[in-house]
Amino acid sequence: MDLQAAGLRSEILKKLKSNQKILAVSKLQPIEKIKELHAEGQIDFGENYMQEALEKIETLKDLKINWHLIGPLQKNKVKFLKTNFAYVHSVDSIELAELISKKAVEINHKQKVFLQINISGEQTKAGFDENAFVKNWDLVKALPGLEIVGLMTMPPLENEPEKNRIYFKKLTVLGETLGLHEFSMGTSHDYLVALEEGATWIRLGTILFGQRSKLDK
Ligand SMILES: *Cc1c(COP(=O)(O)O)cnc(C)c1O
Repeated sequence: MDLQAAGLRSEILKKLKSNQKILAVSKLQPIEKIKELHAEGQIDFGENYMQEALEKIETLKDLKINWHLIGPLQKNKVKFLKTNFAYVHSVDSIELAELISKKAVEINHKQKVFLQINISGEQTKAGFDENAFVKNWDLVKALPGLEIVGLMTMPPLENEPEKNRIYFKKLTVLGETLGLHEFSMGTSHDYLVALEEGATWIRLGTILFGQRSKLDK
């Protein structure tokens, strides 16, 4: 293991409360690095792209890893979810939620999901619009193939992490009013602020693994 990454992970672990966990975002990172971090005790890994995720899941099937899908999920790829992912963090529309539920029911499965909220209201960001989400909450909550564990957000890319505090706070307030207590928020550059605002899963890529091999799509 690159000692720096292992050291950083243990430094970050010291800052976590008992309900806060690290999701290691391994998209576009080599298998070797995943194995090394796993050997350090990391069992939750997040991937963005279905094809890449499925290949890694197959390659590493002998390790006890909980895989999380965190990238945008196209409807024609929902059929690949099966029971491959412990969590899907990127459920961003009613149609997608309904489809995941339908496919899960077909195989007698309940898929754990986070609902992704576009909390900043930026046009370019994925996620439920906050008002539309609240309006559709009863419908989504009733879907038989889903277990909704919490909310996820990707705030605007800010140089100054402090600027994202307001969005993290808004997400937890929204979740708590609906009785949800898991919050997937905060990445390498703003995870400290996210932790202060009640993140339960921080999604860390580059800070743990270094730069990704290819340009992120
Ligand atoms: C890539 C990615 C991350 C990790 O970002 P880093 O800046 O590398 O920590 C977290 N969440 C999502 C949704 C991502 O796509």
